[in-house]
Amino acid sequence: MASSANPFSLSLSSELASNSSLRCANSSEVFLRLPNSPAPPSLRSSFVSPIKIELNRVGVSALKVSRIGSRISASSTPVMDQSPSQTSSRVPTVVEVDLGNRSYPIYIGSGLLQQPELLQRHVHGKRVLVVTNTTIAALYLDKVVDALTRGNPNISVESVILPDGEKYKNMDTLMKVFDKAIESRLDRRSTFVALGGGVIGDMCGFAAAAFLRGVNFIQIPTTVMAQVDSSVGGKTGINHPLGKNLIGAFYQPQCVLIDTDTLNTLPDRELASGFAEVIKYGLIRDAEFFEWQEKNMEALMARDPGALAYAIKRSCENKAEVVSLDEKEGGLRATLNLGHTFGHAIETGVGYGQWFHGEAVAAGMVMAVDMSYRLGWIDDSIVKRVHNILKQAKLPITPPESMTVEMFKSVMAVRENIANANTFEA
Ligand code: NAD
Repeated sequence: MASSANPFSLSLSSELASNSSLRCANSSEVFLRLPNSPAPPSLRSSFVSPIKIELNRVGVSALKVSRIGSRISASSTPVMDQSPSQTSSRVPTVVEVDLGNRSYPIYIGSGLLQQPELLQRHVHGKRVLVVTNTTIAALYLDKVVDALTRGNPNISVESVILPDGEKYKNMDTLMKVFDKAIESRLDRRSTFVALGGGVIGDMCGFAAAAFLRGVNFIQIPTTVMAQVDSSVGGKTGINHPLGKNLIGAFYQPQCVLIDTDTLNTLPDRELASGFAEVIKYGLIRDAEFFEWQEKNMEALMARDPGALAYAIKRSCENKAEVVSLDEKEGGLRATLNLGHTFGHAIETGVGYGQWFHGEAVAAGMVMAVDMSYRLGWIDDSIVKRVHNILKQAKLPITPPESMTVEMFKSVMAVRENIANANTFEA
């Protein structure tokens, strides 16, 4: 990866990610830590338990080197070498998720829903079930059905339109997908298509993993959150009243098709929510990307197509690389959970859907960064930069007032008590 020539940014870069360690506690919350900072005191008195893994600079660099020559392009694409406008075109950018015989492409570009061959080459069998919700069906269902069937009359497409919202990401709603699949007599050679944001993607993926013990599925994410994060990596699932994403499966799609034009209809609050995860990639592993975001957050908020396309691509590259190295979250993948343990507690505590996922993650990242600072692992310049970029993205930097320390402790304790809970964080 190219380094910035500016010594000031170099030192900031190294402070932020390249030269910092990420620490994951048993609760799977991730903290930033600078080299030579004091050993962590016991965290027992706080919300979390002692350190579980530490990824240091040598470890991360070694992992990157081991991928050279693979199909992952993340570490070979210099962030500053590519202007945003270069990434926007009708020819899709392709980011590969390298998982052996379960590898798949992420197509990113404008107008991709008008390129039926991209989708059709990943459909298995002749029966397709599109899973979407009331909002997105009205906007994009016809387009997707057209893309699936144009020039291909043998394909028959069913759809199930779910209620819209995080509060419906549960077992009752999931059953509606199975009801439709069974009523339509879909067989093992069917393909499920997730058309929507992270809620639809997580539910459709889980349904695909479970229906007849596993059918093919395709992700067509339509929010920033889903395009930069949830559609990639195979974490699927639903919420339980006691905790987010506690029931689910790892199940990889056949492909992810990101038509960036779908963001034209996305409301501002949903757009900003997705930027929390974009910022997260910068903080955990891509300092140059973080610096690019600091310079380009205004363009992102103004929906500059080139800036959006670039942020989506770079985020997917980061996620693809992490997932390819640690699909089932044995260690490295837990770094993607920065801020999520606090964030999930907020989402559960205030009631699913009250705070958007990205909003809760933003406040959660501030809490994680604050904890790192108080432990002496990072200095206050990083804390300020995290506050600044989240404020630029109009994301919250404090948890909701209604969330007391007792509420945080009680929601986080549920997760803590579940073995391997960290695999359900994102
Ligand atoms: P969401 O799916 O609820 O979508 C947000 C809102 O935007 C919804 O009302 C939706 O109908 C609407 N919408 C979606 N696309 C639209 C479009 N193009 N135009 C207009 N409206 C549109 O929320 P989200 O932020 O996309 O996803 C959050 C969920 O993703 C959470 O449940 C979270 O746990 C999950 N998630 C999962 C992973 C993972 O790795 N599986 C990672 C991150 C987040």
